[in-house]
Amino acid sequence: MQTASVLHGREGQIHRKGATPFAIDCNKDSLAGAVSQRACVFCGSRVVLYPIADALHLVHGPIGCAVYTWDIRGALSSGPELHRLSFSTDLQEMDVIFGGEKKLYAALIELIDRHRPKAAFVYSTCIVGLIGDDMEAICRKVTEEKGIPVLPVMSEGFKGNKREGYQAACRAMARLVGTGDTAGIPKHSINILGDFNLAGEIWLIRDYFRRMGIETVANITGDGRVDDIRRAHGASLNVVQCSGATMDLANMMQKEYGIPSVRVSYFGVEDMAEALYTVAAFFADPVMMEKARAIVREELEILMPELQRYRKALQGKKAAIYVGGAFKAFSLVKAFRLIGMEVVMVGSQTGTKEDYQELQEITDEGTIIVDDSNPLELSSFLREKEVDVFVGGVKERPIAYKLGVAFCDHNHERKEMLAGFAGMLNFAREVHDSVMSPVWQFVPRRNKEI
Ligand code: SF4
Repeated sequence: MQTASVLHGREGQIHRKGATPFAIDCNKDSLAGAVSQRACVFCGSRVVLYPIADALHLVHGPIGCAVYTWDIRGALSSGPELHRLSFSTDLQEMDVIFGGEKKLYAALIELIDRHRPKAAFVYSTCIVGLIGDDMEAICRKVTEEKGIPVLPVMSEGFKGNKREGYQAACRAMARLVGTGDTAGIPKHSINILGDFNLAGEIWLIRDYFRRMGIETVANITGDGRVDDIRRAHGASLNVVQCSGATMDLANMMQKEYGIPSVRVSYFGVEDMAEALYTVAAFFADPVMMEKARAIVREELEILMPELQRYRKALQGKKAAIYVGGAFKAFSLVKAFRLIGMEVVMVGSQTGTKEDYQELQEITDEGTIIVDDSNPLELSSFLREKEVDVFVGGVKERPIAYKLGVAFCDHNHERKEMLAGFAGMLNFAREVHDSVMSPVWQFVPRRNKEI
């Protein structure tokens, strides 16, 4: 067995279950020079707000920030697709010297006239934080002139970690909530927070809730619409997926409008079923609960025989997980167990102490739990544990392939539906096809130091 490479100063952010009593250092800025897998604050905001399809998204900054996040999620829309265009004020040297406010104002006026959006989000980037453009004032001025909400997103890239980007996005959305008419919203109504409609997943989830007799008021933010978010305060419950991205908005809505929230996950059989039961239990309606049970029964009858086939082939194989939010990691650990695989490493970019505590409880002895990792550590863990498949996002993919390890994309760029019962089958199929692919005989696994 090899010894894993861990950067000096990061030892406290790695825990090996069983080796020592549980303790992990997390929720802090990345170690300088560590080439963290994390994205910047601006990117954190951009990924949360991006799926609001009838809003204008203008990046106030150099062109690179806009290009970096152009069409950043595989978030589908059932209608307008304005979100897929990336607009930037393209700040240059002279703007940095003399300020970019005039350019921002002109860009907003031109884009709003041309695209007639329902609202506009204006993202602050590193350089705007440095030169001190008054984005708030420009947005207020354009709101008055054009009659639509123009919302500053205070997401200067350098001012913290990705989690602060989520908070900036939630603060911007909170200014929309409460400005729409809630007439006609029934008692059995929810908002779906933290699902981004990758590959159409929110349509599947909405349909489960519809079959239970529940109306969805607003998708926040997958296939999102400005007018729905404006009336989201009329819903009875916020159903929040993922630990980080939209929890702050749910907390703000609880404080401001008294709307309670529940945390759920739609990944894996157990968590998907639990999500439906949790919502039915909230409404305390026995008929609704029976409908939830019927959905789970029907879906499992189709799913389980198929899953058994994959389980047979994958039994005993090893998986490593590195994702943005730790909440998704909980579901993935359970999903791998369901298909007979062992999770030997699990980590996240933005997990909290409570998240890692929970991971410690649901994983097997010897599992490596890691916070805010980097390519050096990840490749070292993959080699040490002789992993068969690595689950992550676009930045983790090359690490896996360079080591001859199979990869499954579970991040926001993916085009495959992995949520819901149907998504579990897709997940099992994708893991199976990737692990069992004949290509690995031509790319021998590199378990030795390179
Ligand atoms: S906001 Fe800053 S860190 Fe983020 S992409 Fe732009 S320049 Fe880079």
